[in-house]
Amino acid sequence: MPNANLMLFLGEALVYVAAMIGLLHLRTRLGLGVFVAALGVMHFIETYLAAVFYVQLPFGVISPGSAVFFSGKLMVILLLYVKEDAATVRQPIYGLLAGNFLIVALSLLLRQHDTVAIVQNRVADIAFIDEMGWLMVWGTTLLYFDAIIIILLYERLGRWFRRFVTIRFMICGAAVLTFDQVGFYTALHYINGAPFDVFWGGWMAKMLAAPFYALAIGFYLNASRHTFLAISDRPLGDVFNDLTFRERYEDLLSRSGHDALTGALDRGRFESEGQQVMREAAAKDAPVSLLLIDVDRFKSVNDALGHVEGDRVLKKLVETVRDQLRPVDRLFRYGGEEFVVLCPGLAYADAHARAEDIRLAVSKRVTTSTGLPVTISIGVSATLADGTDVRALLSEADVRLYAAKSAGRNRVVGR
Ligand code: GH3
Ligand code: MG
Ligand code: MG
Repeated sequence: MPNANLMLFLGEALVYVAAMIGLLHLRTRLGLGVFVAALGVMHFIETYLAAVFYVQLPFGVISPGSAVFFSGKLMVILLLYVKEDAATVRQPIYGLLAGNFLIVALSLLLRQHDTVAIVQNRVADIAFIDEMGWLMVWGTTLLYFDAIIIILLYERLGRWFRRFVTIRFMICGAAVLTFDQVGFYTALHYINGAPFDVFWGGWMAKMLAAPFYALAIGFYLNASRHTFLAISDRPLGDVFNDLTFRERYEDLLSRSGHDALTGALDRGRFESEGQQVMREAAAKDAPVSLLLIDVDRFKSVNDALGHVEGDRVLKKLVETVRDQLRPVDRLFRYGGEEFVVLCPGLAYADAHARAEDIRLAVSKRVTTSTGLPVTISIGVSATLADGTDVRALLSEADVRLYAAKSAGRNRVVGR
């Protein structure tokens, strides 16, 4: 009988992994939702089986729920990561977590019903759903950490076993499933009174399942000749940030949105971030100042010394301006040799003083290759007197910049 159970167990694992790999493989044709929904459905039966369904194998008592379904889920989640990326794999992980919390919340409401028994001797065991729900919440909380750890470990192992995906899956599976077994068994023991045997049986079954799944997945990856990155060149912190949603929209933007020559934020970023800065400041009742900077007689630098020298001067200028800014200030290259600085939280008088510092620093530190000083003119504007939106601040600053030029350049003009 234990041997028949072993065959059944392996058969279940094979059906599971074949079906899930199939759905994953067809994701471009079917959409990833099909794979993810199937993963979610499997997740429910898995916890149910882990709570009550045990079979005798030659080496101990195991639950196909955790050995087949749970181990499989973790391994296909890792496979999804290998095929896609961290931003994709975090979706089912968070989805499972959200779904489980919802089940627990709803079962608390369901229990309040006065139910009607329409079939004799068939009464829903809501307390059971309730109890299962907590087990599922704990299981998915663990899964959340399992998934992060397994992916980080997979990446780390890439240093030593670059192309040996099967070995990487095997080690990852064994390590993380061991961690998970300790965590899940503890809950099972306290919630369901599961005996200690269940820990060993379950652990051994997982240790059997991990290499089995690793072989199947390794076989699939080799057969499908997936040109996956054997090792991703992203730092581990990046992957972790993606997985935990800590990476922010701005980070995404910051990968683009920089001017190639000077490294300042580009015009597009000004359009998108300008309004955001204003909104955030308005919400905090904080002022915002704007400096519009234009290089004086820059055309003559180009004409006399060439565009390459002109470019070098612009780079040096941006470095110098940046040295005068706080981390929260944003420096944009608005046009060719025109720059905008947005200073959230800085009131007009302080902004004017800051502009003066910038002007002085540039005139002292930026020179052409022939030793001539490079100077700038700056127009300053600030909320609320000059307006409350970024367009109004910009046009006020523009008028003042023009005034600075007319008054002889190398100066700051404000109100
Ligand atoms: P003003 O003091 O009135 O500002 O005089 P200006 O010569 O600086 O006049 P203006 O601001 O109109 O000149 C802009 C010049 O900047 C024209 C253009 O050749 C130069 N320029 C714009 N972008 C770049 C760039 O990326 N590299 C270089 N080398 N020159 C640029
Ligand atoms: Mg100009
Ligand atoms: Mg100019």
